[in-house]
Amino acid sequence: MRYQGKIYRPPSEARSYILQATVGCSWNNCTYCDMYRDKPRFSLRTIQDCLEDLSMAAEQLGPRFEKVFIADGDALCMPMDHWESILGAIAELMPWVRQVSCYAMARNVLDKSAEELQQLRRLGLKLLYMGPESGDELTLRALAKGPRPLDSQGRPVPRTQDYLVQSHIDAAHRARAAGLALSAIFLLGAGGTERSIEHAEGSAALITGMDPDYLAALTLTLIPGTPLDRTRERRGFQLPDLYGLLRELRILVDEARPTRALFRTNHASNYLPLAGSLPRDRARIVATIDAALAGRIPLRPEALRGL
Ligand code: SF4
Repeated sequence: MRYQGKIYRPPSEARSYILQATVGCSWNNCTYCDMYRDKPRFSLRTIQDCLEDLSMAAEQLGPRFEKVFIADGDALCMPMDHWESILGAIAELMPWVRQVSCYAMARNVLDKSAEELQQLRRLGLKLLYMGPESGDELTLRALAKGPRPLDSQGRPVPRTQDYLVQSHIDAAHRARAAGLALSAIFLLGAGGTERSIEHAEGSAALITGMDPDYLAALTLTLIPGTPLDRTRERRGFQLPDLYGLLRELRILVDEARPTRALFRTNHASNYLPLAGSLPRDRARIVATIDAALAGRIPLRPEALRGL
């Protein structure tokens, strides 16, 4: 019930109670992101503060919410004793809660052992929101989507490996093996005009590799002051036009092969809101995108788009 700075959550958590268990993002380096730049020092809130907030929410709100979202930017990085206390308190104080979720980077998942992830699932954590944004290794590196991992000898893996793509596949497999559901978020336009096709094709392949339960596509918005926007100012990055963004979306939907993923583009940043289940609704969604590309479907006006 007490929050520091701006709080972000996925659109599907609009009716959830949000517990701010961490402040900021432990990475805070992605070149397009300014969500937590007002909180440059990542910190954990104390277990005591989190438990007090949960007591207040249970008392004051009661069963008016069914889901709890643990903020901020990559809350999965919390140590196990914080997670165990928080999940235990949710189960005790809010027995009506049916889902606990948080944002997670690939490295947060990989930093936890298989047993730790299973323990979190047993205690009530159900869903991780992961934002690879792209499945193209060069785009991922330009976005700074995580550090270069170390090999078994503790040395940085060679740059020749697709280590950021691979870390997202490994993290997804580890999370799913522990019984955690996965929501994957991709960002149209993230490769710029230069890598637009590679970004879309790589993203489709990464969706197939991660096999998420939920899949969302957002559209990149360049935020003044971010490193990526400064690159744009130096003419080192250019967002694809509307046609290019829709073409990326088409490739993504047409080429991705998840087992069964609920797909949404209802985020305010998108020009074309879509919904369906993949692969079941692939043909219908692709036909809708084709109609939009041909100008037969109205798109969300620029003035109504948001971050
Ligand atoms: S991991 Fe997420 S919150 Fe952190 S800097 Fe990257 S996009 Fe922003």
